[in-house]
Amino acid sequence: MSGYGRSNFTWNGTLRELQTSSPASCKERARPAMAASASSSGVEVLLSNLQNLGDIESTLNILNVLDELLSAGTDRRIHYMISKGGSEALLTAMVKSARSFNPNYTLLLPLLHLLAKVGYRDRRIGMKAQNADAVRLTLSLLRQNSKHPRRAAACLWVLQVYCSSVSTANLLGECRAIDVIYRLICPYTTKTLHTIKAAIDALAALLCTKANVHSAVSKGYVAGLLRLYEDWSSKDTEHVAIAIRCALLRCLHEVTNSTAGRHALVAHGGIGLLYEVTQTCLFTKGLESLVDPSVQLMRKCYPKSTLPLKSDLSVYCLELPRQPGSVPAPEPELNGEEDSEEEDDEEDDSNESEEADSKDYDDDLETDPDKLRSRPAPDRPPELLAQYSRLRPELTYEFQELDSSSSEPEDCSSSSSDEEVQSSAEDASRLKPSDFNSCPTFRTKGRDARGNHGPREQREEEGAEEGAEEAQRRRTMVDTLAERHIGAGIPHHDRRLYRAAAVLAKSIPGFNILAFPDFWGHLPPPGNEPMPPRKPKVQRQKVFEDIQRLLNPDDVINEVVFDLEDPSPQCSSERSNSLKFFSKFESGNLRKATQVRRNEYDLILNADANCSQHTQWFYFEVSNMVANVPYRFNVINCEKTNSQFNYGMQPVLYSVREALEGRPHWKRTGTEICYYRNHFCAARGKKRSTFYTLTFTVTFRHNDDVCYLAYHYPYTYSALQSHLMVLHRSVDPSKVFFRQQVLCQTLSGNPCPLVTITACPATRGMRDLHQFRSRPCIVLTARVHPGESNASWVMKGTLEFLCSDDPVAQSLREAFVFKIIPMLNPDGVINGTHRCSLSGEDLNRQWCKPDPVLSPTIYHAKGFLYYLNSTGSTPLVFCDYHGHSRKKNVFLYGCSIKETLWQSGSDTGGLKEDPGYRTIPKTLDRLAPAFSFNSCNYQVEKSRSATARVVVWREIGVLRSYTMESTYNGCDQGIYKGLQTGTRELQDMGVKFCHSLLSVRRNVPSLYSSRRLVDHIDLDHNSHNCFEDDEPPCVEEIEYSTDGLSKLKGSDLDSDINGNTSSGDEQEEEEEVVVHKGFNPIRRCEGQSHQSSLRSRLFPHLIGHDLEVIEVLHMKRNSCNGVGITGRQYLS
Ligand SMILES: [Zn+2]
Repeated sequence: MSGYGRSNFTWNGTLRELQTSSPASCKERARPAMAASASSSGVEVLLSNLQNLGDIESTLNILNVLDELLSAGTDRRIHYMISKGGSEALLTAMVKSARSFNPNYTLLLPLLHLLAKVGYRDRRIGMKAQNADAVRLTLSLLRQNSKHPRRAAACLWVLQVYCSSVSTANLLGECRAIDVIYRLICPYTTKTLHTIKAAIDALAALLCTKANVHSAVSKGYVAGLLRLYEDWSSKDTEHVAIAIRCALLRCLHEVTNSTAGRHALVAHGGIGLLYEVTQTCLFTKGLESLVDPSVQLMRKCYPKSTLPLKSDLSVYCLELPRQPGSVPAPEPELNGEEDSEEEDDEEDDSNESEEADSKDYDDDLETDPDKLRSRPAPDRPPELLAQYSRLRPELTYEFQELDSSSSEPEDCSSSSSDEEVQSSAEDASRLKPSDFNSCPTFRTKGRDARGNHGPREQREEEGAEEGAEEAQRRRTMVDTLAERHIGAGIPHHDRRLYRAAAVLAKSIPGFNILAFPDFWGHLPPPGNEPMPPRKPKVQRQKVFEDIQRLLNPDDVINEVVFDLEDPSPQCSSERSNSLKFFSKFESGNLRKATQVRRNEYDLILNADANCSQHTQWFYFEVSNMVANVPYRFNVINCEKTNSQFNYGMQPVLYSVREALEGRPHWKRTGTEICYYRNHFCAARGKKRSTFYTLTFTVTFRHNDDVCYLAYHYPYTYSALQSHLMVLHRSVDPSKVFFRQQVLCQTLSGNPCPLVTITACPATRGMRDLHQFRSRPCIVLTARVHPGESNASWVMKGTLEFLCSDDPVAQSLREAFVFKIIPMLNPDGVINGTHRCSLSGEDLNRQWCKPDPVLSPTIYHAKGFLYYLNSTGSTPLVFCDYHGHSRKKNVFLYGCSIKETLWQSGSDTGGLKEDPGYRTIPKTLDRLAPAFSFNSCNYQVEKSRSATARVVVWREIGVLRSYTMESTYNGCDQGIYKGLQTGTRELQDMGVKFCHSLLSVRRNVPSLYSSRRLVDHIDLDHNSHNCFEDDEPPCVEEIEYSTDGLSKLKGSDLDSDINGNTSSGDEQEEEEEVVVHKGFNPIRRCEGQSHQSSLRSRLFPHLIGHDLEVIEVLHMKRNSCNGVGITGRQYLS
């Protein structure tokens, strides 16, 4: 067999000769490396000769060699070639060759192929093509060759790679390339599939610019593409054209990046069409790849609709004292240009509420050791600190009655509450069990002892005597229940105390109804609650259901069944077949519920008070259910971009009936749970607003039960108050010094408690009293973020442990004075907010300069810390308890100068630092199964400079200043791995935290070896930003924005090009190939090794002939750049 290539592969001369006679180099100033000097690599020599375009044979030979080089090995070779001016050389050669009077396609075709392959990896190919005047030329080649499928395909690939530059794509658009290419996309056929695919890919590439999309939309191509997709989908029964169908979807995706494109798709019935086609794909193996892109496309084009609310602003608003300017200004109403093109550019990610504002003055905090080390000036004059001496009652207490038990609380509210308890208990009377059945919306009222009534009672009160009777009946029911079930085996819970506390809690709407679970109390359910595995494709199924609302509007009920602002519909219409909702109680959050379909409800959460965002926490009552029917709930105005609900977390449910039958449990519940971006936007049409749906399905066990659903185990302010009263009663006053005081009043007038716990001195002797009064302080705070109820459960564990008889607790009390502020944001907790205080601000971003009026709890907590500091009692440890919604496990954030500098890439230059900040996390790692040392981080982030942790570390000088983050979900390590956390585990964490404090006792032999505690710890210098989500990407796309469509980008240009010579449908081009005598590409490839068959595709005429040369090339490749050719050996 006489191969064309072999016999003509004659390069008469040596590389050196080539180098010296290289004339092209001088004008290629953009490519200094091209000058074929003695140090030039073989590639440079080849490129230099290529663009000289000598005789056809030598040019083909150069192309052969280049292609062989590039086909083997990795992309590194191509990038090397690009760095040596490969793209320019190919463009120059292509331009020269194409401009000749009668272009020789024997040369041009491989040139175009190679250009496409190289250009595919050259990010600047578009600009280079423009500089070489190749753009219009390639397009005109395409025009001339539209009847030659292989030539057309080659041109299309090159055009496609040009479009990596927006300006080149626009230039092509101006030259009407879109029309030329669009016309090449024909309806279903079995011929020239390669070329059609290349045309669709090129069109998709062209549609990367707004101008081109605009042009395509205005010419009606959206409808055309939809028709093409339908045609190919219906006729491609053998599924041989999946790649073409996929490419058509990609075009549709590109064209719907504009509002007009999306509107056009919807207007031409695109969603229905896609839905139908997708349903047929679902059950066909091999068509899976079409389903996700179709679903994403439908989600993207689903018409935006505003949340059905009058205003985004919270229903709960409080007029703030002082400066009206300090009220967060309502965001300006946006004008009518909803949804403009700009939204396509990037998605709003500003709702990462963890990342809040940073202060200018701390701009270089993370990199400047002096700034990290320096202590900012106090925010108030020292004379203001004296007021806090009252918060150290242990220093002035005389213990005269050390042996009696009369340590009464000073100004805690328990005495007045006790009276309430008495009076309401006296009212108790009989209650029949049937009372429950007749009153499904059982709630226990809080204020009735004071003569106030709930909204229903208030309405009735105006005209009817029955109102009072109803109120009386309800009160007796509550009281009787409380009487009958006193204690009921729930430790540290007293219902009468709870109700008494609730009566005093001040809320914006004036709650007068208690949620049953808070009143009744709860016990952790027996056994563990594993994270349920995610149901495969659950999100896809939910999205299909959502799309059906649009396609079958007749099935949609769309009836409001609950509205916090308008109590009429759910009460008046007495719709017997819908669920009933209620949330007007302490910590409740549900703004609106709409019955969408028979067993499906859309729920809208209430924004934080005086604010229009931070929706996450929910807690509401649901009743009137039918047993064993799956109800789908959709919380449609979630804000965070991802959620642990995508990773095994379930909401919690409490059943009143179950509780009355002796099983008072909050249980993880819900199936088919997922969290994904939806099509809603803010009520006022905020352009960039994005919402996410949390969907879950609940099947209730009992008919007509009353159930409560919540984001996490609720823990109300009243629960804290009653718990403190119970604790106070429980301690032995001769041993435990327990004082509950009021740190300050909150904005709405609720007392913020501060608790002191320490051991009473053994005797009144000087020595004991001295030891007692010189104990170091440990300051613990929690629940600055109201939605983080997990923090309260951890704090509950801490408080109970510190008051307990446990010898470790006794030892801790003897070593330390605990100053605990268990709820820094009572107002937020009471009003069911998630993040903020009633001033609409995140209190954990106010620590730098807290406002005494708007952020009183922070102002006084900081003042108290200043006071401790000023009296030489700087706390040994400070820890603020939080909950984390996007991570598993429990972990600490601390503060370290060294690690901050490390992580910001700054020089630590022999900096010495006390490693004591690691003692507690290291100890917890050994003691607490839920704790994850690897999740801890000690970076002082600029964005956190106003948090409690950083300010207490920097300004008060507390070395061990922490934020403790507890998951809402569960653990992915340790003995709790795969389990969701319950209140038992959370409380245990609070106990374990206390245990860890033993490791920082002064002058006390530690339970834990001190050597082990200060073990050198390997620092993970590569640790990611600790404040971000550390979950792997969700199995299903939460987003539908363009960058989430990676699945569609898989079009493999290389294999398309390689296939261009081997597809059997292009017989008509045989004459092009026939030039190479005896060549049959298809047959040739058979039996070859995979690699050589790949090699043969571009240059079929080489097969079997130059393989030895190639092998030499491969063996001689320079290990440095992977492509180097040492000329002589290869050529000689
Ligand atoms: Zn928090």
